[in-house]
Amino acid sequence: MSGGGELRHHTPGDPGLVVVGGGVAGLRVVQTVRQEGYTGPVTLLGAEPWLPYDRPPLSKQVLTGDLALDATGYHPASYFSDEIGVDTVLGVTATGIDVARHRLLLADGDALPYRALVVATGSRPRRLPFVSPADGVHVLRTREDAARLRQDLARAGRLAIVGAGFVGAEVASSAASLGVEVTVVETAPTPLVRAVGAVVGAELARLHTDAGVRLVCGKAVTGFVGRDRVEGLTLDDGSVLEVDLVLVGVGVVPDVEWLQDSGLALDDGLACDDHLAAGADAVYGAGDAVSWPSARLGRRARSQQWTTASDQGRHVGRVLVRGREEAGPFDHDLYFWSDEYGSRIQGFGATAGEAVVLSRDHAKGSFLAGFRAGDVLTGAVGVNAPREFAAVRKRARTDDSWQAATQHLPPLDVPLPAGADR
Ligand SMILES: Cc1cc2nc3c(=O)[nH]c(=O)nc-3n(C[C@H](O)[C@H](O)[C@H](O)COP(=O)(O)OP(=O)(O)OC[C@H]3O[C@@H](n4cnc5c(N)ncnc54)[C@H](O)[C@@H]3O)c2cc1C
Repeated sequence: MSGGGELRHHTPGDPGLVVVGGGVAGLRVVQTVRQEGYTGPVTLLGAEPWLPYDRPPLSKQVLTGDLALDATGYHPASYFSDEIGVDTVLGVTATGIDVARHRLLLADGDALPYRALVVATGSRPRRLPFVSPADGVHVLRTREDAARLRQDLARAGRLAIVGAGFVGAEVASSAASLGVEVTVVETAPTPLVRAVGAVVGAELARLHTDAGVRLVCGKAVTGFVGRDRVEGLTLDDGSVLEVDLVLVGVGVVPDVEWLQDSGLALDDGLACDDHLAAGADAVYGAGDAVSWPSARLGRRARSQQWTTASDQGRHVGRVLVRGREEAGPFDHDLYFWSDEYGSRIQGFGATAGEAVVLSRDHAKGSFLAGFRAGDVLTGAVGVNAPREFAAVRKRARTDDSWQAATQHLPPLDVPLPAGADR
């Protein structure tokens, strides 16, 4: 197991740090090792042809036309070459790691030696298990996906979204604002029920329907209609939904198949320890691609959220330069946000299971819900309630007892559900 501190010193000739994956996690690793004073070689290698860019706007401002695709880049090329001295290798896919010889294997047959390696290869959209028509069926992960979807949306009248997760909901919101008729099909009885429970899921359902988006819950998609171009979806009740365009938003899978022969443990992503070390000498992981034992959740977790990826990248950078002991274990309260229909949704902590509504303001369309285990507040979700959400999150950091974290919130304007207790 890695003791960390691999990049505490640099000796001439040592191959330095190699980071695989140029998303936010990879970006944070390379920035952090520089901030921490590492002066040796750093290489950031990614399969996409672009320098690191921000994915969250792809389903939001990019689709609505409020942000140009190339404005999603975090930094220009000169930032990497001149300011932080990082070699970027773009459009190159890693195919394996020779952990014994400290070499990253590449698709073109080459190998890159490393002193320390970070796997930050993120995740990719899950596909439906049916043959899909060549045109009109989309997923959304990359700039290219966003460009194709935006182009098709401009001439589509009717869009179906398979899956009412965050990305699906954000695309529904963006498409509706463009005047497209949108239907969201979700197998579960309420959107995001596994992520935020039925109480919050029902509130999120209302955001769709209030905006005129049709939400079909409790039905599964069984296939596509149309040969060359999609014409509709068949559902498990035998009905057919006629549409011009489909977005499949049924979750993501960690991009780690390329590690299968490396000898590293894969368990819901690259299995890392609490310092994000991956179990082979000087190999670490960060971001959507990894799972780690979360002390806060009391179980192995994998996040698919921007803030976790960013925080994990920073943490790995610190472990690499300062060592495990000084950097400490990775600790994070699993914050997430989503923007839909002009509403800001925020969450932190363990948000599955049944929530208690703590505060609501119908006029502002805002509410805050808390999740509890016994006397402990385990997490919260807020909609248009940034002040209340921040207050609960801050209090929970110092005292997570339900009583302490939820007291003195703004007054409720609706009665609490029967039996609910603040
Ligand atoms: C449309 C969209 C909207 C989102 N909105 C939000 C939001 O509002 N809030 C939020 O919290 N999160 C949001 N997310 C999630 C967030 O963007 C991700 O959690 C975050 O991007 C994960 O960062 P990462 O660096 O781990 O991985 P990624 O950003 O996926 O980057 C990984 C990179 O590694 C590359 N790669 C993969 N395999 C290889 C290989 N073998 N060799 C070389 N390179 C490889 C990939 O091509 C990719 O460029 C959104 C995601 C999407 C797609």
